[in-house]
Amino acid sequence: MKTTLNLLHVNEWGIKNTDRPLLISGPCSAETEEQVLATAHALKDQAVSVFRAGIWKPRTRPNTFEGVGSEGLKWLTKVKQETGMKVATEVANAKHAYEALKHNIDVLWIGARTTVNPFAVQEIAEALEGVDIPVFVKNPINPDLELWIGALERLNAVGITKLGAIHRGFSSYGDSSFRNAPNWQIPIELKRRFPELLIINDPSHIGGKRNLIQSLSQKAMDLDFDGLMVEVHTDPDKAWSDAQQQLTPAQFREMIQSLRIRSKGSVEQTHSKLTDLRKKIDHFDHELMELLEARMKVSSEIGDFKRDNNMIVLQNNRWNEVLEQSIALGNKKGLSAELISRIFKAIHQESINIQTDIINKVEVKVF
Ligand code: PEP
Ligand code: MN
Repeated sequence: MKTTLNLLHVNEWGIKNTDRPLLISGPCSAETEEQVLATAHALKDQAVSVFRAGIWKPRTRPNTFEGVGSEGLKWLTKVKQETGMKVATEVANAKHAYEALKHNIDVLWIGARTTVNPFAVQEIAEALEGVDIPVFVKNPINPDLELWIGALERLNAVGITKLGAIHRGFSSYGDSSFRNAPNWQIPIELKRRFPELLIINDPSHIGGKRNLIQSLSQKAMDLDFDGLMVEVHTDPDKAWSDAQQQLTPAQFREMIQSLRIRSKGSVEQTHSKLTDLRKKIDHFDHELMELLEARMKVSSEIGDFKRDNNMIVLQNNRWNEVLEQSIALGNKKGLSAELISRIFKAIHQESINIQTDIINKVEVKVF
């Protein structure tokens, strides 16, 4: 299904500092009035477009801090009055949306645990019908691009054109160096499908640890993200939620200053060296295709042989051998085991599909 989104450029949203990187920062949660105001004052002279603070916190386990609720919206109103910053909070249902609108919250975001649920997103969208407010949609917890797009479409359908996406990583089982796996190819594909869509990165929830935030932010900038949402707290270690991943306002300033914002490079500007290198890439991609085609042909010949000799498709020993020798060869060539194993698993899967089709093809006998 192909769709387009009707989007208003961020320069028309009525917020300041919209140059790359657009920055949204503030604490994971609003905890006390003093903490919210102190963080906001420490950020007001930094190039932050929007001050964030979670009021209703969707927590994985109960009996953890679930947010201060509507009371905290008054503190955000105070942030607006005292610092002139725009303020944002997360809404997870229609009631939150009405409450936030009642307190003149400037920007809303939909959290990862809400984006997964089309009913919840639809309910929020309907609550916002006819309201002129910027809304950001975080990616769903699971790596499902269509679900992410679906949420953006639901909001767009009720007339929200100040729309952005936030890449906060995806949940996966087991240990990983990241709290949420970035799967960068998913936001990249979102950008390819909707080139005009504002997409910002949330290194705090991807990294889950302070020391990963700078490198993730730099990577996001190098991958052409439009901005960053970063959690900032005046005393991170004592934060009531996400303590390990928040930066102090000073660390945030230093982190942003350390970023190298490289130019995007337009077609006209493209250096001829780059054009040459891209031609080489195109050439190798072409060769890869030819090789894959040739390999699949041999694979179907093996399929014919297995059918004629009544053999099963999967020969586990052979597959182990192929994988191991490829990883060993790749290693000598400086190609990571992860890359080789992903590529060969995909190729092997395709071979199996081809051969399964062959051995099951019913021969139509003509008498
Ligand atoms: C948050 O921004 O604090 C939050 C809860 O994020 P996410 O929805 O990405 O988990
Ligand atoms: Mn958080």
